[in-house]
Amino acid sequence: MLKDYLTANQQRHLSELLDLLRIPSVSTDPTRQGEVRRAAEFVVGKLAELRFEVQLFETPRHPVVVAHYRVSDSAPTVLIYGHYDVQPPEPLDLWISPPFEPVVENGLIVARGASDDKGQLYAHIKGVEALLATTGTLPVNLTFLIEGEEEIGSPNLTPLIEAHREQLAADIVLISDGAMVAPDTPTITYGLRGLAYVEVLVRGAGRDLHSGAYGGGAPNAINALAKIIAQLHNEQGRVTVPGFYDAVLELTDTEREAFRQVPFDEAHFKREAGLAATPGEAGYSLLERLWARPTLDCNGIGGGFQGDGAKTVIAAEARAKISCRLVPNQDPHDITAKLAAHLKRLAPPGVEVTVTELHGALPAVLRACAAGPLEAPAVQVAARALATVFGRPAVFARTGGTIPVVSTFQELLGAQVVMVGLGLESDKVHSPNEKFDLVNYYRGIEVSTALLAAFADMP
Ligand SMILES: [Zn+2]
Repeated sequence: MLKDYLTANQQRHLSELLDLLRIPSVSTDPTRQGEVRRAAEFVVGKLAELRFEVQLFETPRHPVVVAHYRVSDSAPTVLIYGHYDVQPPEPLDLWISPPFEPVVENGLIVARGASDDKGQLYAHIKGVEALLATTGTLPVNLTFLIEGEEEIGSPNLTPLIEAHREQLAADIVLISDGAMVAPDTPTITYGLRGLAYVEVLVRGAGRDLHSGAYGGGAPNAINALAKIIAQLHNEQGRVTVPGFYDAVLELTDTEREAFRQVPFDEAHFKREAGLAATPGEAGYSLLERLWARPTLDCNGIGGGFQGDGAKTVIAAEARAKISCRLVPNQDPHDITAKLAAHLKRLAPPGVEVTVTELHGALPAVLRACAAGPLEAPAVQVAARALATVFGRPAVFARTGGTIPVVSTFQELLGAQVVMVGLGLESDKVHSPNEKFDLVNYYRGIEVSTALLAAFADMP
């Protein structure tokens, strides 16, 4: 019955998504303010048609859509988070077709936002539609929380969640704003890394000096900074900041085994990024290092003479940007403080080091039960539902990146977060010719129905 409904409505489900993709809701672009609102209103309209109780919350920039469908006090409550805003489409000349005139070709929907996140979000809305049409109700109480500022860092989302905690309370938060680890591989992403970002300023002499007159008798800020950075890792690839690893949650044996099951193509990973080697912390596999170990990287460095030709100068100042990817349970402020103290300790005589905190984000791992994060009931139940739809077992992944809102959901709503990416790494999100495979859109709709049904039966 459900399958028949999905098949019979495929064309309409596609054409509605294309309508949403035609709206250029670029959240960072002030001239598109009206278009961003139009995308919000489009979503509001579709949820109202499904008899959701819909509200549009205003924020200083773009509105947030909140919609509820309550079925019973005894059923669990699921909150589906997504975003209707998109990245700017530039550079336009690299697109094979205009970014906001979606085309469907060779089984792909090509448009800005096709995968990130309109296609994945709309798959859930159509999944809900299918459940309502075929069963007359939903298996769970459902809330949609759909924002228009994800691509600009969600500045107004946390305050909104804080202000409406009770209204947004949920047992499970379901997020589809990412990718499967490989095509046709149902994937549950259960952990994210956080971030601590600093700028380092090194001062030596009071001004730039002639290297002939002063060379051999004055501190060189660039030499000092280079020496400091070189000491931030040891021979084993470990970060030398004292206390850096103190709060790190070690992987469980189950997780390490789960990572081994991930169909990860290391050769492709290297080829795609142009890597001759994959250096990192000793004692961990590449995936473990990318997903579940903290790192420190220098992101930029400058100072002294950088123009054409030669200038014999001893630089008075040098700067670097340094960031750390953090893992649960590291705290960005704690790591920033430890890093700053270490950088100052490493300063050679006559050199002054100033450290400025630029920004940070908490890492997140889905709330674990005692046995570990993979044993949590919502994760287990979701894995079984995905296996049914795909006909093969789900794999468990983390991601090296950061989605700050995930820790907000855990902290403020006390919810178990389950991330099920419906797209692919090859979807070119944020790049020209973003696409979403038709098969992933249609299967995403089915995944949504299966997940909601499964969450209803959660122990
Ligand atoms: Zn997104």
